[in-house]
Parts: sequence; C-alpha cells; structure tokens
Amino acid sequence: MHKLVLRSVTKSYTKGTTVLKPFDLVAQSGELIVLVGPSGCGKSTLLKLIAGLEKLDDGQILLGDRDITDAEPRQRKIAMVFQNYALYPHLTVRENLAYPLRRQKLRMPAITEKVAMVARQLRLEELLDRRPSQLSGGQKQRVAMGRAIIREPDLFLLDEPLSNLDAALRTHVRGEIRDLQRRLGTTMIYVTHDQVEAQTLADRVVILRDGEVQQIGPPQEIYARP
Ligand code: ADP
Ligand code: ADP
Repeated sequence: MHKLVLRSVTKSYTKGTTVLKPFDLVAQSGELIVLVGPSGCGKSTLLKLIAGLEKLDDGQILLGDRDITDAEPRQRKIAMVFQNYALYPHLTVRENLAYPLRRQKLRMPAITEKVAMVARQLRLEELLDRRPSQLSGGQKQRVAMGRAIIREPDLFLLDEPLSNLDAALRTHVRGEIRDLQRRLGTTMIYVTHDQVEAQTLADRVVILRDGEVQQIGPPQEIYARP
C-alpha cells in the first residue's frame, strides 16, 4: 500500500546547472521500477532526494498516504542498498542485522525474533556469527538486503546493488532480489547500468537523460526490436 509519487521535483546543486528538471514519476504500490541512463544523468541524485539525503529545490514527494517532502531521513521508512554494502566491519552478521532495530530502541526479544526471521528469509542462519571480512560478495549483499528489510520499509532504493559481484553471482543475487521483492510486495526503485537487470527485474523501465524522463514503459516495450 505504498505508492511513491514524485511531483515536479527539481534539483540543482549549483546555480544555473539543473540536475533534475521538473520531474514526475509514480511508482505503484509493489511496483519494481528500474532506472537507467548514462552516468551523470541524475539517477543517484533522484534516490538521494527520495531518501531525504539531499534537499529538493521544489516539488513534492508522497509515499503511501504521507507527504515526506520535508521529513527527516529516519522518518521516511525507506531502505537503501548500495553496491558497496556498507556493513559495519567490526560487527557480526547478527549485530549488523540488529543494528537498525537497536537504533529504534526495540527490545531484545523482539530484535532476536526479527533477526532470526530475516536470517531465514535470506539464508544467513549459518553466517550469523561471522564478520563481513569472512563473507563472500554475494553473502555480504544478502546481509545488506537483510539489514534493509528488517525495518519493514515502505520503499526500497537500490543503487547498482550487483555491480561488485561476478557474473554468475550477479544472476543469482538478482533472482533473490526479485523473489524477495515479490514476496514482500515492497515498492522498489532500482538503479542499474545493466540492460539484462532492467529486462529481467523491471515492471517498468525509466530511461533518464539530462534530468528528464526520456522513455518509460515495460521492458518488452522499451527494449523491443524495431
Ligand atoms: P548519476 O547517478 O546518474 O551518475 P548523479 O545524480 O550522481 O548522476 O549526478 C548528476 C549530476 O549532478 C552530475 O552532473 C554530477 O556531477 C552532479 N552532482 C552530483 N552530486 C553533486 C554534488 N554533491 N554537488 C554538485 N554536483 C553534484
Ligand atoms: P540510519 O539509517 O539509522 O540513519 P546511520 O545514519 O547510522 O543509520 O547510517 C546510515 C547508513 O550509513 C547505515 O545504514 C550504514 O549503511 C552506513 N554507515 C554508517 N556508519 C557506518 C560505519 N561506521 N561503517 C559502515 N557503514 C556505516
């Protein structure tokens, strides 16, 4: 039940250089939107605006029935996953998973229960006592996903989550992300350079160019042969 609406969102970092022109996008509840486009076209900026890590100049962002335009990042119930995982190196997998819940001051029995559930969902049970340095790339990415879903976010933002993985693992983790997203029904915005990822994951693909939507549609349409 968490539709994302971007309404005439604009952004420039310095006067005179507009990174996002008035930008409109609606992601339906449970929809997986893949955002593609050349380097520098504004993909990361868009994710940062949605997450509240950058301020927009103008426009409005709605998530579910809330206007989150001016909400603090922590109030937004949005989870981000990046290519570099950003796991805490000194913490075990269990502690990494528990970290967002501790921040929320959840009580220990509830934390233990949620960690166990997420570990099961992402097949991390055997790895709970390891530290990130003792994990493979794919395992680290599963922990990052686990830490993202443990707070039951209303929206997922993924910024090239597979680009540090080798080809075989990429295919595998891609499938896992798809399954997880389907199972949880979480709305997702997924940034990638990889056309295969766009084709296999997207409900709809958005092609961004110079801060504007150049094309939007289901992958069969976007990548149809002429
Ligand atoms: P993408 O993710 O598509 O590669 P970005 O959103 O990172 O694009 O960048 C879009 C444009 O905004 C680029 O021209 C980039 O140089 C500029 N930009 C990004 N972040 C900043 C920043 N913090 N300060 C100034 N300019 C920035
Ligand atoms: P919150 O999302 O609860 O506001 P933080 O502000 O602590 O969390 O951090 C935001 C993100 O930055 C974290 O989810 C984590 O991925 C990353 N991060 C913060 N501190 C560290 C650290 N010391 N080592 C690795 N990653 C970190």
